[in-house]
Amino acid sequence: MGRARSIRTAVVHAGRGDLRELGLHAPPIDRSSTYPLSDLRRATADLEAMAQGEHPTESPVYGRLHNPTVARFEQGVAELEGAEDAVAFGSGMAAITATLLAAGASEGHVAALRPLYGGTDHLLSSGLLGSRVTWTTPEKVSVDVGPDTALVLVETPSNPLLDLVDIAALVADAGDVPVLVDNTFATPILQQPLRHGAAWALHSATKFLGGHGDVLAGVVACDAERAAALRRVRVATGALLDPDAAALLHRSLPTLALRVQAAQEGATDLAARLAAHPAVTWVRHPSRPGADPQGLMGRQQAGPGAVLAFEVDGGHDAAAAVMAAVRLITPAVSLGATDTLIEHPAGLTHRVVAAEALTESGVTPGTLRLSVGIEDPADLWEDLAAALDAATQRR
Ligand SMILES: *Cc1c(COP(=O)(O)O)cnc(C)c1O
Repeated sequence: MGRARSIRTAVVHAGRGDLRELGLHAPPIDRSSTYPLSDLRRATADLEAMAQGEHPTESPVYGRLHNPTVARFEQGVAELEGAEDAVAFGSGMAAITATLLAAGASEGHVAALRPLYGGTDHLLSSGLLGSRVTWTTPEKVSVDVGPDTALVLVETPSNPLLDLVDIAALVADAGDVPVLVDNTFATPILQQPLRHGAAWALHSATKFLGGHGDVLAGVVACDAERAAALRRVRVATGALLDPDAAALLHRSLPTLALRVQAAQEGATDLAARLAAHPAVTWVRHPSRPGADPQGLMGRQQAGPGAVLAFEVDGGHDAAAAVMAAVRLITPAVSLGATDTLIEHPAGLTHRVVAAEALTESGVTPGTLRLSVGIEDPADLWEDLAAALDAATQRR
């Protein structure tokens, strides 16, 4: 066997395997909501296949059941995650909901590790899906899972404080219970959870996969059997990704490796500068000394990533003043775009998380989260340093 291709090459060609045969260079966009049927018997057979979560052999029949543009993007993500298949949804939350439903979590048990994305935490704690939830830790997971546990849910690096969890160790401790890893922060460029035994690698594709702040989507990479279960849920609940969104996402894949590389270099640089600033009490980024006590960098995650968190001395008001003072950096929720975004987890993304849980995970009123883009870090630092100085002087 030849050497494995670099991820930088893989992103460029992912999901494009059928284009040459079609006589195309760019993936085509199919916006059909319905399809002319040439043969009733074959259409019925295709409907039956899709009801089982399989791809149609001739016609998608109806737009909610299958879309070729979406399928091509899914194929690309599957290749990058080292998965048999992937299934795409209209948002990250739709993807998480479908995975919980497909795993049988509704009316069943879920073991989840905090901190999680605020929306995921809320979905689980609200009881909306009827799941019984145990908030667990890597130390306790082996005793917190039982015969009725549908899945273990984890984010690594976590949102918003960038804690790292050993996926392989978690999978071992979960025993027969499948593990869902939200891989949004790492992207398949830095981490491929299935290679460490996870059953599903999930993305809010709204973030780094889309990468330009102009599309909402979610995608789950997994084995063929789990993908079929996800498609059955997607057909039933109507959560298929829009084909135009899929085309934007597929267009973004070729630059994913370059974007993540440039952004994490910027984040590493800014994390060091922030740590030395007198108005900053702490900085959380996997590049910082002591941030990776388990030695996961290299073994599980190829780089520290592009998101960091820090605490401004002076609490909520100082954090608000920094957000108000930045000019080049945009005060906004979300992350993973080409431009740098700053937000306040306690007041915005993690507002729906129970106050004790937020405090316990280390999110303080002065905590800010920075999603570093691909700008020159020197320009970003000029903006951030000026904002920190303005915020500090105000007090
Ligand atoms: C944004 C985000 C989600 C939710 O995705 P949407 O596309 O906003 O629905 C889930 N997990 C993580 C880690 C996220 O950052």
